[in-house]
Amino acid sequence: MPRYVTAKMRQAVAERARGYCEYCACPDCFSPQPFAIDHILPRIKGGRSVLENLALICQGCNNHKYDKVEGLDPDLNVMAPLYHPRLQVWSEHFAWSNDFQTMIGLTSTGRSTIATLKLNRDRVVNLRRVLRITGDHPPAD
Ligand SMILES: [Zn+2]
Repeated sequence: MPRYVTAKMRQAVAERARGYCEYCACPDCFSPQPFAIDHILPRIKGGRSVLENLALICQGCNNHKYDKVEGLDPDLNVMAPLYHPRLQVWSEHFAWSNDFQTMIGLTSTGRSTIATLKLNRDRVVNLRRVLRITGDHPPAD
């Protein structure tokens, strides 16, 4: 098992995600900073550098996620596990607002992930608004 993410693994993760952040759904090609590789279960908590534990993540989401695996569901005021891109289906936990600018949490996991990673932060919403006009948002299923 590699102790770090190899270039080949990084490429496989990016291709699997089709270049989109697996949390906020923004495309890497419109980001001023290259995307990172997220250890969904952080290495400090025993997560391994294997494809099943890796996700493509933008710098903003990565900064907010850090080593977290759970967050507060603001509706129920309980802690809930963060969304796991490898084990869970996006559409079971999230939906788009009618204008596709805001993510809506359908479950405790969805709401806690939106709140913890700040998936509706102003800059992301602004980017979604522009990408909607150009036809680059939301990502195709
Ligand atoms: Zn993101």
